[in-house]
Amino acid sequence: MAEREKTGTMIVTGGSRGIGAAVIAGAARAGYRICFSYGADVAGAERVVADAEGAGAEITTVKADMGSEDGVMALFAACDTAYGAPDVLINNAGITGKLTRVADMEAGEITRVMNINVLGYFLAAREAIRRMSTQRGGRGGSIVNVSSRAAVLGGPGEFVHYGASKGATDTMTLGMSKEVGAEGIRVNAVRPGLIETDIHALAGAPDRVDRLMSGVPMGRAGSAEEVARTILWLAGPDSSYVSGALLDVSGGR
Ligand code: NAP
Repeated sequence: MAEREKTGTMIVTGGSRGIGAAVIAGAARAGYRICFSYGADVAGAERVVADAEGAGAEITTVKADMGSEDGVMALFAACDTAYGAPDVLINNAGITGKLTRVADMEAGEITRVMNINVLGYFLAAREAIRRMSTQRGGRGGSIVNVSSRAAVLGGPGEFVHYGASKGATDTMTLGMSKEVGAEGIRVNAVRPGLIETDIHALAGAPDRVDRLMSGVPMGRAGSAEEVARTILWLAGPDSSYVSGALLDVSGGR
């Protein structure tokens, strides 16, 4: 219990599988109380809850679309009711959108990617800052945005819209870290490279990791757990003087 008091409450967007689920598993072991959202994968969310409870964690989940203001508000309302103000926000829910060249992009698909990856991150950060800011009576906190190496590589031939959404994630991380640094809130980002999760198959390219692996200097893809360990370090007190960092977790890619 002493450890749980030390770590506090963590909100994770998009926790039903992949990197979000790995963050929750690590957070549960570290003693956080956890509140997470998911969009559709009920069975995945139930597995994540059962595993976290098995590790002794208190956990709450909400089926809510992180691409909409109502969905983000529902997530924070559920956390308020269950545990009160959060100490940590992990902005993680994201999609690549359909793999396509820019010349073939559809407006609706670009909008879907931007709503979830950019608007959703901003709205969740807004709600977290309102609750964490020492200028508003909060006790401070830590926000970690899950960006991507695509912010730098650009995603040509596949998902320039996704790359641009992650460029926005990097810029919002820098801006927010400066804006709320004096309010007790640290803001950082991780930029994963090629990570073994379902995101590639969902984009219609199940062979994507195998196809691109040879271009990774370390010669292999990363795991969700390897990204989660870096996120948890940025979230917690061991990184107490780190803010505004964009940390690559990419095997050198
Ligand atoms: P994933 O396995 O597809 O998991 C994505 C998670 O986000 C799922 O829990 C999904 O839940 C949730 N989600 C998606 N849209 C949502 C919405 N509208 N509302 C609420 N939840 C939503 O993907 P991942 O690889 O773990 O990706 C996590 C983050 O890492 C993303 O921001 C991604 O851009 C970033 N990233 C991944 C890689 C990689 O190679 N895997 C590389 C760089 C960056 P539901 O299915 O239940 O909706």
